[in-house]
Order: sequence, then C-alpha cells, then structure tokens
Amino acid sequence: MRIAVIGGSTAGLATALRLQQSGHDVSIWERRMGAPTGGFGLLLTPSVSDGIERIGIDLSDRVHPIEQCEILDGEGSSILSRPLQAVAGIGRLALVESLMTALQPGTIHTGSSFVGFEADAKGPVKAALFSDGTRVEAELFIGADGVRSQVRQCHIPGPSLTPVRTVELVGICRQDRVPEAMRGRFLKTIRIGEGISIGLVPASDDSIIWYVQLDPRRWPQALLPQEQRQRWLLNEIQRWPVQVEETISRSDLNQVHLWRTTDRDLSPTFHRDNVLLVGDAAHPLLTFTSQGTGSAIEDALAIGDILDDHDSAGEAEMDHALREFARIRRPVLRERLLMGRRMQQQFLRPSRHCQLEVPVCS
Ligand SMILES: Cc1cc2nc3c(=O)[nH]c(=O)nc-3n(C[C@H](O)[C@H](O)[C@H](O)COP(=O)(O)OP(=O)(O)OC[C@H]3O[C@@H](n4cnc5c(N)ncnc54)[C@H](O)[C@@H]3O)c2cc1C
Repeated sequence: MRIAVIGGSTAGLATALRLQQSGHDVSIWERRMGAPTGGFGLLLTPSVSDGIERIGIDLSDRVHPIEQCEILDGEGSSILSRPLQAVAGIGRLALVESLMTALQPGTIHTGSSFVGFEADAKGPVKAALFSDGTRVEAELFIGADGVRSQVRQCHIPGPSLTPVRTVELVGICRQDRVPEAMRGRFLKTIRIGEGISIGLVPASDDSIIWYVQLDPRRWPQALLPQEQRQRWLLNEIQRWPVQVEETISRSDLNQVHLWRTTDRDLSPTFHRDNVLLVGDAAHPLLTFTSQGTGSAIEDALAIGDILDDHDSAGEAEMDHALREFARIRRPVLRERLLMGRRMQQQFLRPSRHCQLEVPVCS
C-alpha cells in the first residue's frame, strides 16, 4: 500500500520504518529543512527499548543505562530510592538519527510543510498538499506532525488543547564524562509545596539532561527574557543539592528551552476516512509521565501489526483497521493521560497522603 507519513520525528520515523518492514511503499514529508536539530534527551522504558529492537534498531552503544531512581526533598533527604531495570537515557538526536538511518534511502522529504488535503466531497482523501506545491497521492495518510498537528486541524479536530498549567526549562550539561555520583542515576529533587522540582538524567556517557518543572503562577521568573531568566536560575540553584547546582551551572544556559506542557482529552478515535493520527498529534501526554516518545514508538508497532492482520483494500476495511488502532491504543493512553494529570495535580497542589508516582517504572 502507498502510505504518506506527515512529520518526520520519532512517531513518523518509527511508523514509516515499521510499515516498510511489512513491504509498504512509505514516504515521509517533514516541514524542517535539512538534518534534524534540537531536543535534548529522554528516558527509554523497557517496553520502549523492546519496541525499538522490534523495528530492527540496536541502541546499545548510544544509551546510558539508568539503574537507580532517587527522589529527594529540598533539603536533600531521600523521599524515594528504587532500583530500575532496563531503563536508559538517550539523547534525542541519537534516537532520531538511528531511526532515520534504518529507513530505505529516499524515504524522507524535508522542507515540505503540510497545508491540507485534496478530497472528494464524500469519500477518502486523495492527496496531501504541501506549501512548496508538492502533491502526494496515497491510499493511507498518517499525521505524525506533533502536538499542534495541522493534519488533525484539517481533518480530525477533536478536543482542543487545554491551557498550559506547568512549564519546564530543559537544558543539557556536556562534560568529558558524567561524574561518578550521577552515573546510572535518575535524580529528582522536589520542593514539596513550592511548585518547583528539578530532574537530572544522564543521556549518554558525557551528557546530563536536566529539567526544571515549574508552576508559572508561582515562578513567573521562568517566563522572563533569556538573560534575566539565566540570572534568576543561577541564583536559584544555589539552594539546591550539589549535583543540581553543579550540573546546571556547567551548562550552556543560552541553549535552555522553555517547554509549555500541553494536555488534551483523548479523542474517541484517531482517524477519519483514510487519515490516521499517531504520536503527539493523536495524544499529547504531560511531560510528567516521560512517556511521549515511548507512546509514539508503540503507536508505530501497533499500526504495523494491525495492517498486517487486516485487509485494508477497500474503504470499509480500512475504516475497520483504523478503528482497531484506537480500540487497542486508547486504554493504554488513557491510563498515561490520567497518570500525567495526577502527577501534575500533585505537583501543583501536593497532599501529604498522595502516593509518589515514578514514571520510569511504569
Ligand atoms: C525539535 C524537537 C525537540 C524535542 N526534544 C525533546 C526532548 O529533548 N525530550 C523529549 O522528551 N521530547 C522532545 N521532543 C518531543 C518528542 O519528540 C515528542 O513528544 C514525542 O517523541 C512524540 O513525537 P512525535 O513525532 O509525535 O512529535 P514531534 O517530536 O513533535 O514531531 C513532529 C514532527 O512533525 C513536523 N511537522 C510539524 N508540522 C508539520 C507540517 N505542517 N508539515 C510537515 N511536518 C510537520 C515537525 O517538524 C516534527 O519533526 C522534541 C520534539 C521536537 C520537534
């Protein structure tokens, strides 16, 4: 089957790769010009690592195994300490490049920004249209164009994004070698009741990703212009545990990214006609869960398996196959969505009786 994937980040690349493995004729249309840039890193849970292996990618020499999760309070006392199994940190570019390299040559077309579909008044979509004038015909279109998906907006709008309630400052500390005290450890410090926490995750043997989660109503400094924000951050980290202070102060603070977390109710379905959404386009998750990339990889495997098992030759058959995707994926995603909301709620309004949830264990 001819399949056009719109968006060439983790969801689009993994989906294309999985579908190529089943012999489909897949192309990717990505807005970005040239090679991928941007992003820091993420945590791979065991199920995600298995999924990546299933699509033929060996990441063993690109990950940093994380064997211990430590959660501290503002004074540096342990709130939770738990061993982790088969969890690893990885740089986002390392993951994206590994997926890209495994695709058949000529799959990815960059500099192509999707603008709309060409469809009959009734019936399936015929072609996708791009800002550079390109018109791409396919039997199936997959929107993997992220949280503010244009594919979703054009064809399957569903629930709107809810207003941002938390923000994150994300950065990376590059060193010759991750210090011994941080090797193999995911370290999170929570100032309970203050609406601020800081996480450190080694993403390779020479880099540590860090993120500062904030309630912007209590910490408006996070939204200041870059230079003022840097000054505030360097001052603020003085009262945090030494690993936090050392990691952030040794980072290039010009490279810090302000992430506005997004949330959206789950749609009853992820498709209409022959257009399917995957990854963040289908179901953004709050960053508290650390499950965005994992869920995107799982989507890729799920749609590959479903198309292998279903006849999708006609309109009704295609509809049935894509309905099956939502039937399988919704329960898992719903649980993660609720988990993210519980974690956000606990972060914004902590209660002493609340159970601490550790995303990397689920
Ligand atoms: C530059 C960047 C850096 C990131 N860094 C991190 C990180 O460090 N840690 C982390 O946990 N998560 C990061 N993420 C988010 C993470 O990739 C996703 O939450 C998750 O992996 C799901 O991926 P996705 O492919 O569904 O969405 P995304 O990763 O958001 O990818 C969407 C893709 O679609 C493309 N696109 C958007 N609109 C159009 C259009 N109209 N036409 C064609 N293409 C379009 C975008 O350029 C992008 O490549 C980053 C995302 C991006 C885009």
